[in-house]
Amino acid sequence: MQSRVLDYPHPHLVSFELTKKCNFRCVFCYQAKRIKDAEKDVPRSEIVRGVTPAHLQPELTVDEIREQLLPQVGEMKFEVFCFVGAEPTLRFNDIIALADDFKKLKKTLKHVEMGTNAYLLTEEMVDEYTRAYKDFTLTLNIPLDSLNPELVRELRPPKPDAYERALNAIDLALKKGMYITSGMVVTKKNIGEMEAIGKFLKKKGGFHVFQDAYPMFSAGRAVEFPDLQLSPEELRTYDHYKICNYGNPVTPWDCMPHPVREETWRKVQKHAFMAIMSRGCSAGNNYFNVDHAGNVYPCNFLDVYLGNVLDDPHALKGIWDTHPLVQKLRNREVGGKCGSCKYKNTCGGCRARAFTETGDVLGGVESCEGGPDGHPLEQVMEKNFLRAYRINYPAMIVYRFLKRLRLAK
Ligand code: SF4
Ligand code: SF4
Repeated sequence: MQSRVLDYPHPHLVSFELTKKCNFRCVFCYQAKRIKDAEKDVPRSEIVRGVTPAHLQPELTVDEIREQLLPQVGEMKFEVFCFVGAEPTLRFNDIIALADDFKKLKKTLKHVEMGTNAYLLTEEMVDEYTRAYKDFTLTLNIPLDSLNPELVRELRPPKPDAYERALNAIDLALKKGMYITSGMVVTKKNIGEMEAIGKFLKKKGGFHVFQDAYPMFSAGRAVEFPDLQLSPEELRTYDHYKICNYGNPVTPWDCMPHPVREETWRKVQKHAFMAIMSRGCSAGNNYFNVDHAGNVYPCNFLDVYLGNVLDDPHALKGIWDTHPLVQKLRNREVGGKCGSCKYKNTCGGCRARAFTETGDVLGGVESCEGGPDGHPLEQVMEKNFLRAYRINYPAMIVYRFLKRLRLAK
């Protein structure tokens, strides 16, 4: 079925959970179901796709990544590949071993990211990684949930120096010319720090640092901590902060209402992805998440199995072209508040947030202030959206040009 509102001929971003092992036990880990490492893996031949729990399935080997996942990344023309985990640095040697295979994708692939708690990162590792992946724009996604080390220890146990190591890694990566996206999981305990962390990051890295703040969803271990979840009023505070700081330096796409007029979106859509912008929620629109065993999901926060990259050499393409849920997400067949909202097509509502609030992936983001008459901050959003485009798009053209000349790190 051809999508009604499809703007993207192919998805742009894939995150791949290289390993199910982790050295942290964060209270809001969406992965917790997949990292019960005490249990034994089920042999490949006994796995029933979509039924055998993901945490019992073995990780893809380097050869499987090389021969079965990466050709599909090329076929789908993904522009961004993000290594995530659990903790990807636990397979750091494999990341380096795959660097030459990534080079073969450089016609279409432009950015390589790594989402890491950064605890194990050393200067030597950063050097080796930046050398091996020098053909790409490199971003490290390093969490910073608080400027209070005590609270970081409480939210991301068990390492006592998690906070200090994360800050060191941010400094190190900036020194080596990498971009930083610093993710903050917003809970009742740290919602008051959003602005202070944003200012801190901006001071640290200017245009090289983005603050990616998302509310704690009902996924993984977070379901054990409902008391940490934001109330509807707190979610509105979160929305206001993100909309008012859109592009300054908060990343544009995640988890917030995205009340942008359709005519405005049409003006920027051709170069939107290059300008690091999206048409609201990326799940099923622009993004796939692949777990350690090759299972595919519409977003890392949505435990909705779509297929497996080992199923056939064109599995991702098949899911993108024909999977009914992906079609529904892309066509914005969403209900509740989002279904009747003026911004359904340009926002669509964060599906993980809708699921957390309603138990339905296609439900409404009921905490949002948007609706048929618009959103109270739509003018602020419109202004910030266009300003971000005017800054980001030319900056990325210059950056890519310098990169081709090897003048940018
Ligand atoms: S579901 Fe939420 S977190 Fe996932 S892509 Fe959509 S906006 Fe982002
Ligand atoms: S109601 Fe849904 S679609 Fe409308 S702005 Fe809010 S999150 Fe977006």
